[in-house]
Amino acid sequence: MAERCIFCRIVAGEVPGDIVYQDEDFLAFRDISPQAPTHLLIIPKTHIISLARLAEEQQELAGRLVILAKKLAEKEGIAERGYRLVINCGSDGGQLVPHLHLHMIGGRRLGDGLG
Ligand code: AMP
Repeated sequence: MAERCIFCRIVAGEVPGDIVYQDEDFLAFRDISPQAPTHLLIIPKTHIISLARLAEEQQELAGRLVILAKKLAEKEGIAERGYRLVINCGSDGGQLVPHLHLHMIGGRRLGDGLG
């Protein structure tokens, strides 16, 4: 069997993660190298390599991912002041981990630039 990616290993409980939420389909955990006071990674448990590999049939999953981010922002207490959601896709997009993930970054005033 091919070696599982690091996020699949967190899902499987093989690698520890600072997990803040999980249900049948999603996992949210704190980024190991936070870029702001709040930096969560929200992932589908199923292994989707990147946004580029998200299928049309998975649009419900994608919608639920975004709604979950909104709810977790409220739970983290950053919803009122605001936050940023980022999906890095592919090498030019700066994606390092080959498992679709949404960064939720907040808790401070973020810079204007997007790279
Ligand atoms: P990206 O560049 O969009 O692929 O982001 C990958 C993110 O995963 C980076 O912000 C890393 O700090 C984070 N990361 C990598 N390994 C772990 C881990 N074991 N636990 C939590 N976050 C991780």
